[in-house]
Amino acid sequence: EDAAKAAAVVADTGAPTIFDKIIAKEIPSTIVYEDEKVLAFRDISPEAPVHVLVIPKFRDGLTQLGKAEEKHSEILGRLLYAAKVVAEKEGILDGFRVVINSGPSACQSVYHLHLHVLGGRQMKWPPG
Ligand code: ADP
Repeated sequence: EDAAKAAAVVADTGAPTIFDKIIAKEIPSTIVYEDEKVLAFRDISPEAPVHVLVIPKFRDGLTQLGKAEEKHSEILGRLLYAAKVVAEKEGILDGFRVVINSGPSACQSVYHLHLHVLGGRQMKWPPG
């Protein structure tokens, strides 16, 4: 399964991703939080009892954290704050993890920046 996942990692082409369709509500998702700039929805393949993805509604070149520029500072801050709001709504403020996979070596598979908010179980460290 790990090999399949690694093989599924594609290059960052800048092309639209499945998350654009989720933002446009062309494909369904379970939305946990939404404002004018941020959308948070449940991961389709959860790795923990709570597994929510937090994404910017306007990608603005931000396909991965490794492509961030200073102009993205505000949205990066908003995303992190939204992760806290999600953790609060989901009742996991006592302990949760926020993960950003940036690039192929980190197994990023969708090239639209996203924060994973994980919790609801004892998390282990270090991650794989
Ligand atoms: P990885 O696939 O290795 O976790 P990413 O960090 O790029 O890499 O995470 C993409 C996440 O998007 C995955 O956790 C995957 O389950 C999730 N995902 C993909 N398609 C959908 C979808 N239609 N709805 C919700 N989550 C999705």
